[in-house]
Amino acid sequence: MQNTLSGWDDTIVAIATPQGVGAIGVIRLSGKDAIAIIDRLFASKELTKQATHTLHVGLLKEAGIVIDEVVVSLYKNPKSYTGEDVVEISCHGSPYVQQQVVEACIRMGARMAKPGEFTQRAFLNGKLDLTQAEAVADLIAAETEAVHQTALQQMKGGFSNDIKQLREQLIHFAALIELELDFGEEDVEFADRKKLEDLVDEILHSVQKLIRSFKLGNIIKNGVTTVIAGRPNAGKSTLLNALLNEERAIVTAIAGTTRDTIEEKLVVNGIAFRLIDTAGIREATDVIEKMGIEKSMEKINSAGILMYVFDVNTNTEKDVLDDLEKLQQPNQQVLIVANKIDTADKAQLDQLHAGIHAFNKDNRQVFEISALNKTQIDELVNYLPSLVLSEKINTGQTIVVNSRHYASLLDCETSLLKVQSGLRSGISGDLLALDIRHALQALGEITGEILHDRDILGTIFGKFCIGK
Ligand code: GDP
Repeated sequence: MQNTLSGWDDTIVAIATPQGVGAIGVIRLSGKDAIAIIDRLFASKELTKQATHTLHVGLLKEAGIVIDEVVVSLYKNPKSYTGEDVVEISCHGSPYVQQQVVEACIRMGARMAKPGEFTQRAFLNGKLDLTQAEAVADLIAAETEAVHQTALQQMKGGFSNDIKQLREQLIHFAALIELELDFGEEDVEFADRKKLEDLVDEILHSVQKLIRSFKLGNIIKNGVTTVIAGRPNAGKSTLLNALLNEERAIVTAIAGTTRDTIEEKLVVNGIAFRLIDTAGIREATDVIEKMGIEKSMEKINSAGILMYVFDVNTNTEKDVLDDLEKLQQPNQQVLIVANKIDTADKAQLDQLHAGIHAFNKDNRQVFEISALNKTQIDELVNYLPSLVLSEKINTGQTIVVNSRHYASLLDCETSLLKVQSGLRSGISGDLLALDIRHALQALGEITGEILHDRDILGTIFGKFCIGK
């Protein structure tokens, strides 16, 4: 698939390391003139005559003026990241120097790369398939160990292999059916229909397993939104602070509008719980606040976990049940947090325990804590993963994390279900063949072997950073 989608005669350049000051900065060039371009700037030796996979130390100069002392790495096609000639220039890490190097390369004939363009070229030159290219973006963005591991597994081709195997099985299946079609007029059934049914069941089973893994994939990739709700003064903010104990929390406050919700991230066993404090939800006075509150309500409604906090000293059992009735959404996990245990007397605790079976309805777990004294907080934190995971994450298994892949798998499933019911009801081979082709197409779109809609590449690679 050499240079099929655009006439890639040009050579691209970009800074590959993060913006800002660093010890070193790396500038990357890719394209047929990459080595010639760097050669025009490199004063110490003739780079066009050097072997591939070699490093060269020397001065970069333009019009007699030294830009920097650099190390140049050469990778000749096809053994490079993009499959083209690639040059990496390691220079001193100041933004000014890096910019000078890029500008000099542009004056020598390169052009600025677009986001993801290096990886896009790698894909179009057959270096990576689409799932692997997408994994590169995930890997760069990975914030937790689990995301990192899944992306790595996908980049190494784990997922592609699964899809490839499924395609091969389906192609075998299609061949059997087509054989039957060729001889259709003679009214011969070549393919043993029972065997075909078994084969389609098996393929369907694998596809459905991948589809199911997306729930986990989504949790791994995007985390679980967890809202902390409850009446004013129940202790929501205190609990949030206790949960975000510095030792375990990676705090990323996402500042919205002034009265928007605040999101903090708590990572437990590799899963990010995005905690949203809804404190202040009731104090709406003006329009902007009202908008903020509507946003909070949307968040509560779409959250995976509702952590409902109440004050054992002042909130009655009825208060709690009434609130839960209003707040709890279908498919939402609920955790009831009985707070301020430290100030509760025996009568209050007895009352709480007497009412716990009502709280426990629908698998709702109750935790008795003191947010202020940080009692039972670790237990609460450690319990969180079990709310969303039925088993431990095994990153060796293939987990679908990408919604594009998920959509294609669903398409594939729909077609396979048609094939399955068609086989059972004995419909003709040509109708079956049509659905099999659809199923194959859906799988091919995942890896990029078949590209229905070429705009999709722009969407996928546009999300990358420049230089990747
Ligand atoms: P929010 O309105 O739900 O966010 O409640 P806050 O977190 O602001 O807490 C309200 C008051 O209750 C504050 O004075 C807290 O110090 C106090 N508080 C919170 N948790 C506890 C607790 O576990 N025990 C005691 N004794 N006081 C608490």
